[in-house]
Order: sequence, then C-alpha cells, then structure tokens
Amino acid sequence: MAESTLRIGLVLPDVMGTYGDGGNALVLRQRARMRGIDAEIISINLTDPVPESLDVYTLGGAEDYAQRLATRHLTRYPGLQRAAEAGRPVLAICAAIQVLGHWYETSAGERVAGISMFDLTTVPQDKRSIGELITEPALDSGLTKPLTGFENHRGGTTLGSDARPLARVKHGVGNGAGEKIEGAIQGSVIGTYLHGPALARNPELADLLLSRALGVDELDALPLPEIELLRRERLAAGRRG
Ligand code: GLN
Repeated sequence: MAESTLRIGLVLPDVMGTYGDGGNALVLRQRARMRGIDAEIISINLTDPVPESLDVYTLGGAEDYAQRLATRHLTRYPGLQRAAEAGRPVLAICAAIQVLGHWYETSAGERVAGISMFDLTTVPQDKRSIGELITEPALDSGLTKPLTGFENHRGGTTLGSDARPLARVKHGVGNGAGEKIEGAIQGSVIGTYLHGPALARNPELADLLLSRALGVDELDALPLPEIELLRRERLAAGRRG
C-alpha cells in the first residue's frame, strides 16, 4: 500500500453495479476499518479518468447498454489495465468479467471488443442463468471455503489458457458454455458471476483482496457470527435449488 490510507476504487458505479455490487467496496472498507486500518472509497464515474494508483479496485455487473458505456470508458482511460499490470488486486463481477475479456457478444448478437485483461470471451447462452450459485474454490485460488452468491446473466464465458477458473460449480450454472466452472483468475485480477454482494457473503474472498491490497500475508481474524449465519442460510437455500 503506497499511503497510510487504503484506497479502494469503485469503478463506474453509475453504469456498473446491479444488485448492490457497490457493496463490495463497502465491505472492503468496513473490514479494513474494523482492524484499525484507515480506508476510503474513491468512486470513479463516467465523467472521470480511471486512476492507476489505487490499492484495490472493484467493478460490478451491468445490463447490456450500460456495459457498453463502461467498455468504452475503460478503453479510453486504461488506468485499470495499468493497475493490474502493476499487480494491484481487482475484483470484477458478472458483466465486468465480460468487459475485461477480449470480446463479448450482446443478447442482440453484436460483438463488442473488451479490454483484454482476461484471456476469455463471452457469447449469449440459449437461456438466461438465474438463481443461487454455490461453488468450490480452485485449489490455487488462495481460498478454501465454499463461495455463495446469486447469478443473473445471459452470457456464457469461455476461458483461454492464460485465465484459470476461480471455482468449480456445485449448484447453479457459473460461466456456462458447457463447463461446470465459475469465474476467472489472471494475475491479480479475480472475476466472478457471484452477486450478493459477493464480498458480504464471502468474507474469505474479501480478506484475500484486502491482504493483497495491504501487502500482508495474513490479517487478524474478524469473527462476525451474523455473517456465518447468513452464509449457512444462503448455502442451504442454494443446495435446495
Ligand atoms: N449483460 C450481461 C449478461 O446478461 C451481464 C449481466 C449482469 O451483469 N448481471 O450476461
């Protein structure tokens, strides 16, 4: 971390942030503050260039049209690409996975060039994937606990050889495209279709991003029984399908 305050970039909340995905930045800030670490959220809107020097970045999901506006902005102002090249952690939810790929096709069948931070492509599936999603993190993800969230997307994502899956699907669809895998990891960038917000439901993922943003190996445990209750309830709901 370059300065004494952890700076969390909330990227394009004005166009990307379905289902309260902006809550991911709030969770990062709160989990830092509860450990006595100063933290602030910097919102980067469509009127702003994208800074490359923040400590961690989050991007949310979006509907097709908003997603295109975001793609155009991130292409024009490549601060996020530079931050990832410098190893800063980035969390990309749903539409943001697609925007960070090489290209995606909209439901209307139009192909839009992405920003190639992820080696992946996305095309519409026959049917929209909606519902609870439970996954088992990949062994090399740095995570050990099941991930929970809900998905709502038409796009099906295929990973290229430079991107690894974040997790294996237990319940739900995930990346789709005929494979039972979910999300993507490439360098310091993590993508997932999980809404929830994902970091509220998956504190282990929040702390993985936080520890990388702070440049520490481990963070003090933060026992929050209400989060464990929420996880138990949501995991049970997901398994019921
Ligand atoms: N528009 C994209 C899709 O349908 C992403 C949706 C979302 O982010 N919720 O695949």
